[in-house]
Amino acid sequence: MSEMQNIQWFPGHMTKTKRQIQTSLKLVDAVAEIIDARIPVSSRNPDLDSIIQNKPRVVLMNKCDMADPSSTQKWINYFKNNGIVAIPIDCKTGRGINKFVSSVNEVLKEKIEKQKAKGLLNPTVRVMIVGIPNVGKSTFINRISKNRKAKAEDKPGVTRGNQWFTINKGFEVLDTPGVLWPKFEDKIVGERLAFTGAVKDQIMDTELLAMRLLDFLKVEKNPIFVERFKLQNEPIEDIESYELLELIGRKRGMLISGGEIDTERAAIMLLDEYRSAKLGKYTFELPEN
Ligand code: GDP
Repeated sequence: MSEMQNIQWFPGHMTKTKRQIQTSLKLVDAVAEIIDARIPVSSRNPDLDSIIQNKPRVVLMNKCDMADPSSTQKWINYFKNNGIVAIPIDCKTGRGINKFVSSVNEVLKEKIEKQKAKGLLNPTVRVMIVGIPNVGKSTFINRISKNRKAKAEDKPGVTRGNQWFTINKGFEVLDTPGVLWPKFEDKIVGERLAFTGAVKDQIMDTELLAMRLLDFLKVEKNPIFVERFKLQNEPIEDIESYELLELIGRKRGMLISGGEIDTERAAIMLLDEYRSAKLGKYTFELPEN
């Protein structure tokens, strides 16, 4: 979508980030990719697979507090069937985070055993954290490291932008330098990133974005959403999304002069309430489609 082009991003940045990641890959045993559990497809960087290639990886499905739990489970099974360990986490409360170290160790089991067989007693495991902006990388790193920055002098590859954190003895994580962009030139991806607040609202018309969100909410019919706007007796699935936005605005008394509904205000309120998880838990993308 053309509105997306307002975002400041340049192909040169991507090339630079790719190179930085490729260089840093040599310093780590595994990659931990953080994705948004609500949009497991749209919250990925499209080039990541080709950048990290065969490096062992774990997928951290973050913000699972706001995703539909059964859908998160479907994704975990999907990843598992594709040979990838994925774990649900919620950096806001810390739920699931204690599984991180053991999941990485599990993925690296063979390598660690080989190292031990060679006489290396306590090999240090190093993991690089990657993910698109706003997916929760800093929150995750703060939580697991309790902000213990590793001492620079002991670390390999300490260059500008390479930031190591010690999780516990023998386990370190590297914050990714550079910005890994999502595929926001894709209209649907852009919308979903905007729903979740991963990209700024200004890139899209607010009412249009709220209508797109309603396209989804009215089909899901989550009781929390239905009750919140007192829509129990409305055939919401059959109401056109702009009219539904008006209806919601009316229910909230959002009127402008002449009795018209302030749909702009209603749209802002709807998006706000969705993002603060007041409308229920949703997953916008499932493995089967
Ligand atoms: P980064 O750009 O990838 O480093 O993302 P941040 O760590 O800055 O997180 C972006 C926003 O997501 C912040 O407002 C966090 O508080 C929020 N956030 C991160 N993890 C979670 C989570 O598991 N659940 C919820 N609800 N919010 C989260």
